[in-house]
Amino acid sequence: MTPDVRDGARGRPSRGAPARALDGTAERPGDQAVGETAWTRVLSLVRQADEVALACHVSPDGDALGSMLAVGLVLRSMGKRVVASFGDRTFSVPRLLRFLPGQDLLVPPADYPAEPALMITFDSSTLDRLGLLAVNAGKAREVVVMDHHPSNTGFGTIGIIDPGAAATAVLAEQLIYRLGGGLDRDVATCLYAGLVTDTGSFRHTSTTASAHEMAARLVATGLRTDEIARELWDRSPFGYLKVLGAALERVVLEDGLIWTYVTRLDRAAYGLPYAEVEAIIDVVRRTDEAEVAVVLKEDDLGAWQVSTRSKGAVDMAAICAALGGGGHRSAAGFTSHESVEATMDNIRALLPRKA
Ligand code: 5GP
Ligand code: MN
Repeated sequence: MTPDVRDGARGRPSRGAPARALDGTAERPGDQAVGETAWTRVLSLVRQADEVALACHVSPDGDALGSMLAVGLVLRSMGKRVVASFGDRTFSVPRLLRFLPGQDLLVPPADYPAEPALMITFDSSTLDRLGLLAVNAGKAREVVVMDHHPSNTGFGTIGIIDPGAAATAVLAEQLIYRLGGGLDRDVATCLYAGLVTDTGSFRHTSTTASAHEMAARLVATGLRTDEIARELWDRSPFGYLKVLGAALERVVLEDGLIWTYVTRLDRAAYGLPYAEVEAIIDVVRRTDEAEVAVVLKEDDLGAWQVSTRSKGAVDMAAICAALGGGGHRSAAGFTSHESVEATMDNIRALLPRKA
């Protein structure tokens, strides 16, 4: 592992250093470590802009929303007009992310500029993942895409894409430093939420030395790691336990695959919003007997949002991409408009046969 390039004793990422995979992972064919030309273009566009429109993927997680709000707070402190949004039909910040600073930057998709001069997207691997805001991106003069998904399709006019980065928040921190912005506690809280979400609290393989170094820079601002952890993982409404119970009641283990589903009726009985069932996969995936875990979650419109996880032997990004979605090797997803059984059959057909 090559350490990140630093400037001076404070351990900050260097502004002028050649950009490359920030966690020092070896570049695989197809990897596009971010080039200096891309950074230079982004910096000049941002500096010239009066207004910057930020967007992240639908049903935002900590990395999507955290990266976006961190950059939004810094751009606002530089005197820019900033709007930030995500393109869900029902626009609502997931409860567990409401503690993030900078929520006042958020506007619903209907109030988003129709043809932004400069739009920056966060953690979105495809244009589709922008939901309703894909239309705005299509009409924007410049679209900067900041992302770390290997499956990124290369949409937008400038890509700040690094599949070696542990989180989009890593790239957001780079952008902030390159803009000369400072890390105050609010900005750091947003970035930290992204980093801990995508490294699974420093458990996944993306947890490199540089991920911990970034955490050290963020924690040094005085943020409350205990409060952030409680908000993200250690609280839920009572209904969550009942819905989790229903999901576990019908869990199936078959040939190294563990799976279950949660319907909107399950949730309706307890008034539980969709975002609250995102974490069920983390309970299901721990099963020793299974390499692959799948949870189908019915959203408010009746579509199945499918979460998949593997322990590393099976490439879920490839399987989910074949089914119209994407993600990472060990954590990927897609949307299905078929029945639970048909959706599971589609997955089974793509899983490698057990020897
Ligand atoms: P989760 O299961 O936590 O919702 O998602 C796991 C990973 O899969 C995330 O990195 C996310 O980017 C990706 N993912 C989930 N759903 C979709 C989808 O519908 N389309 C695409 N392209 N990626 C998805
Ligand atoms: Mn991410």
